[in-house]
This record gives sequence, structure tokens and C-alpha cells, in this order.
Amino acid sequence: MPKKRKKPRKPASRSCIRKVPTPSAAPSSPDGAWADGPTDADYVDGRQEFFDTYPTVPDAVRAAERGEVVEWTGDIDGSLMRHTVKLTSDGPVVEQAIYVGNDLECMVESAWLQSEDRSSTETAILAALGDIHELLRPRLEERVREVRPEYWARILTPFAERSADRIPCFGWRATYSTAGLTDWDDCWDIAAWNMSASFSMLDPVDPMERDEVAARLQSHGVLLIVCEGCGEAITNRHPAWESVWVTPCLEEGPLCPSPTRTPEPYGPNDECGHPHHPQRTRNPT
Ligand SMILES: [Zn+2]
Ligand SMILES: [Zn+2]
Repeated sequence: MPKKRKKPRKPASRSCIRKVPTPSAAPSSPDGAWADGPTDADYVDGRQEFFDTYPTVPDAVRAAERGEVVEWTGDIDGSLMRHTVKLTSDGPVVEQAIYVGNDLECMVESAWLQSEDRSSTETAILAALGDIHELLRPRLEERVREVRPEYWARILTPFAERSADRIPCFGWRATYSTAGLTDWDDCWDIAAWNMSASFSMLDPVDPMERDEVAARLQSHGVLLIVCEGCGEAITNRHPAWESVWVTPCLEEGPLCPSPTRTPEPYGPNDECGHPHHPQRTRNPT
């Protein structure tokens, strides 16, 4: 069956992610990142403005110690990523974070909205993110080893950043002690960077199939309700669409982008579009 080409999804604006102004530099593909490294003269990525502001790691640490928010947030053909300098009791660290994106983001947000026990849902999602990383890491590592045979991918830790009235931001992160470091290349991991493109159908580095992702979540008891027409994760508890089945992070929202297989109870409606239809959940009872 031909794979549906996905529209690029705009990252949702979230209170827990500070968006930096979009740099004017043209984004490059993640492939470029591991072929040449971000310091290569002709490699320009979305972080260039950040690197211009803080040319070395000690520059960034000094700025953080002065009280500046030293952070880059952006996406390059994948989900949102963030690099931050944090001052910890063990000294300054650089944190590399990759947020869930695309299909996985949609599933996590639907499950979160649908959940009646958010604490256990959060625990289950974090466990599933651990599994997903375990599945992806060797594949991503292998790709980098084609050009760097000695390479080992960093092991990432799943996290959830809670905010008062929003869906938590889920993702994976690694921290790098800045002691003795100068070069930004020592503060980020290529496989982690490439993982941000793993849930996208748009020229992905190493795509993970939607069913494969869903299976990991369901194996930890995360409740996923899937639309019979489009196959997207849906919820009828979105605060803006009460009792209406919606995909929380697609621009289609309550409109099903795929023709449904079942007859419409009130007839097909080309003007208003088609509603999503919840399929029976495959969760174990
Ligand atoms: Zn649908
Ligand atoms: Zn329909």
C-alpha cells in the first residue's frame, strides 16, 4: 500500500518551550550534520545564530552564569529540539533534548487527553519512550557508523516537562558536563539529533512505522484510540472540541483527511468534510 505523504506539521506552541526567533540561515538536512559536523565551513544549520552568539562552550557557560538564558530551540526536518546550558550542583552542563514529534506526538497527546489517570499515563508513556529509543538507537547508530566506524550513540533518558494547564512536553534528553570542553561538537549526539526526524514521512533519516510506535505505547498500557478512516490517534476530550473526535496535533483537527470505510450516519459532506470514526482499541482489556 502506498504510504501517505504527510504534510509537515507545525510544532504546537507550548508554554514550556521558549521559541527563539527563527534564524534566517537555510536549514540543512540532518544527513549533512553527521557527514561533515556542524563546524564545517559550508554547513549552515538553524543553530548558527546560537553559535555566533556563543562561539565556544565556555562563552555559553559564562553567559549562563551572568543570568542569561542560553538556549537554542528549533527543528530541522523533524521534531523540536532544544540545547540548553544548565547550572547544576555538579557544575554547568549542556542538555540536548529531543521532543516527540509527528505521529508519536499525536499519539501521546491523544492518550494524555483521553486519560483518566494522568500520573499512570505519564509513567507508561515514559516507559514506552524508553523502549522506542532502545529500538531506534541501534538503527541510528548504524547509520552514523557508515562514516564514523568508532561511533557509539548516546543513551538518552525519557522526560516529561509538566506545565500547569497543558499537555506535558515529552521527549528524550542527554546531558554533557562542560568541564574542560570548548567545542560544541562534544555537547551533542548525532544519533539523538537524527532521531528528531524518525517519526516523519518527509525524507526521514530512519523512519519508525506508526504501528510500531503505537505497539510500544500500547504494550505499556497507554490507551490509544485510532480513527478507522485515517489511522491517526484521536481523542474526544480536547478542551477546544468537547465530545468531538479530533487529532490533537494535525491541522485537520476534527476533519478526517481520509475517506472512511463505514457509511456516514448523516451522509458524506464534501463541504464540511468527514468526521473521524473511532476504531475499537487494540489495548489489552
Ligand atoms: Zn480520521
Ligand atoms: Zn467520512
